[in-house]
Amino acid sequence: MPFSPDALKVPLRDVLLLIPGGLGLLFSFLGASPSTAQLAVDPAWLPVIFCGVPILKDAAAGLFTRFDIKADVLVSIALIAAVLAGEIFAAGEVAFIMRLGSLLEELAVGKARAGIEKLVKLSPVTGRVLRSGGTDIVPADELRKGDILRVLPGETIPADGVIISGESSVNQSVMTGESMPVDKGPGDTVTSGTLNMFGTFDMRATGVGAESAIQRMIRLVQSADAGKARIVRLADRWATWIVAAALACAALTWAVTGEIIRAVTVLVVFCPCALVLATPTAIMAAIGNASRHGFLVREGDALERLASVRRVALDKTGTLTEGIPEVVAVRSFARDISDLELYRLAASAESRSEHPLGKAVLRCATVMLPDLAERPLAAPLDFRMIPGRGVAARIGKHSVLVGNARLFSSEQAVRRNDARLSETVRSLEEEGCTVILIAVDGEECGFIALSDTLRANVRQSVAKLNEVGVNPVLMTGDNMQAALRMGKEAGIAEVHASVMPEDKLALIEWFQHTGEHVCMVGDGVNDAPALKKAAVGIAMGGVGSGIAMDAADIVLVNDEIRFLPFLLRLSRHMMHVIRLNLAFSLLLNFAAVLLAVRGTLGPAAGALIHNAGSVAVILNSALLLFWMPRKHAASERDRGEPPFA
Ligand code: ADP
Ligand code: MG
Repeated sequence: MPFSPDALKVPLRDVLLLIPGGLGLLFSFLGASPSTAQLAVDPAWLPVIFCGVPILKDAAAGLFTRFDIKADVLVSIALIAAVLAGEIFAAGEVAFIMRLGSLLEELAVGKARAGIEKLVKLSPVTGRVLRSGGTDIVPADELRKGDILRVLPGETIPADGVIISGESSVNQSVMTGESMPVDKGPGDTVTSGTLNMFGTFDMRATGVGAESAIQRMIRLVQSADAGKARIVRLADRWATWIVAAALACAALTWAVTGEIIRAVTVLVVFCPCALVLATPTAIMAAIGNASRHGFLVREGDALERLASVRRVALDKTGTLTEGIPEVVAVRSFARDISDLELYRLAASAESRSEHPLGKAVLRCATVMLPDLAERPLAAPLDFRMIPGRGVAARIGKHSVLVGNARLFSSEQAVRRNDARLSETVRSLEEEGCTVILIAVDGEECGFIALSDTLRANVRQSVAKLNEVGVNPVLMTGDNMQAALRMGKEAGIAEVHASVMPEDKLALIEWFQHTGEHVCMVGDGVNDAPALKKAAVGIAMGGVGSGIAMDAADIVLVNDEIRFLPFLLRLSRHMMHVIRLNLAFSLLLNFAAVLLAVRGTLGPAAGALIHNAGSVAVILNSALLLFWMPRKHAASERDRGEPPFA
């Protein structure tokens, strides 16, 4: 595991170094009074040593090992120059505030770190492998695909897999945020990192180590952290020029005025600390705020792009709807296959499906098939998932297709020409049901109808999107009837139905060809290409598939789509804060350099002003952590609605 607890100790070490530094500064400042003036050594040496030396070390390491000129190089030069010129107080102050700045930044990302730590703690350490001679306890990263594992009550499930025997309830809250345990039995998939509550079961591992769902989540969180480094580097890229300009300006000041103190002051105030901090602190604070609402932001610039989004494409099944549909009807039109027999075949074929509809068919099998306990579902052979269409598998001696009309045409299955059948299907679809067709041995035999409910507050959220000037669009692989009905219920006027994964991609491209930024929200494998293509891709973390999450810029861990308008507002407010920060710090630096050249500002006062600027920027950014659209929040409370729905 690459994560080490050291990362959490860093702030503590910083705090310990800051305390003597701060005290030293205070005493040095008071030293101006006669009572402490007789001290042999200026206490400002304390911050120089405790805070300054680590900065020098880091800058030297960066410079000599990576040939990397960063802002801390200029800070180091200024520190050395100030010490040489005898301006110990100025040096101590610069060092102290620089360390304080990095500590605050550290705290801004603390939330994300705490999140990682929680995931790492839940990441399973051992698995119990069934071998011919008994069971072996094996570290989780030595498990192999296909291993048969036994999981006992209270244990963390060590790998992704399918239950082959036994039953239990599983607490999946780490993955879905849902604290109600879910009942699992043979054929059900379980996810590594989730907690087995009551029963003992045997499972076949399908996802181990790095490909397991929990590891994917950990990588997501870590890449959220890495995004920060990338942005800082962007600001640091200017550092080379700033260092050159500062040195030139200081040399010129020295040459013209002959006063080395002025040159030192120029070096001190030239340090672009506030400028360097302006963007990353705002982004990290906004990411922290977003994560409190369940958004895991993988890349800092995703929020920057989101701020300019004017259109949101929403997937239907699993995104706007709960993604836990109920089976409302099953009908067989084949003479030799009963309704329940047909359902049994479909459920077996869907038993490895990642799709919400497939999972629903499987989940409802426990109610639909009374004899499930005596006759478990047959395992599917040659299982294939065809995104946007359905699944194909061999069940015993039958070949089975479950999906929509497109699946039937691409797999060359014969449609049944039956007026009664198509009439029933149409009326079910008009009621808003999704009907999936079943073919056995290449011939249509019947259907299963499922009905899915809209997520809570979707209608209000769509209204909010319109309010903030964002155009919502519904995009679904389902048929037009179901799509129109859902669109009407959600209040979305623009509806694109029967779109295949590649059509979703093409639609996003078409929206974006004029340079418009589009945000795509989806959950399925079929949404992954569109999520990647969109300026900002947001994947559902709970119901969503791993592939969708990997393709997205932001993962909505708790599936609470009602927070989307809030995220849009937050991103816009973040851009506002960044612009304010940049303008403020540029102006302040410019003014301070001018005053330093004129000799109005001494090194100590220069350091104070300059660092007050950094603190102002950090505080301004930190406000983003707790920001919410206050006016709206208040009015929503009045109406008794949940906040920023
Ligand atoms: P959406 O875009 O609304 O999320 P999808 O593109 O995932 O919908 O699916 C489109 C259609 O494909 C579904 O309405 C269904 O008819 C069919 N389909 C996809 N996967 C399956 C499956 N595993 N079982 C049955 N039908 C499926
Ligand atoms: Mg979907």
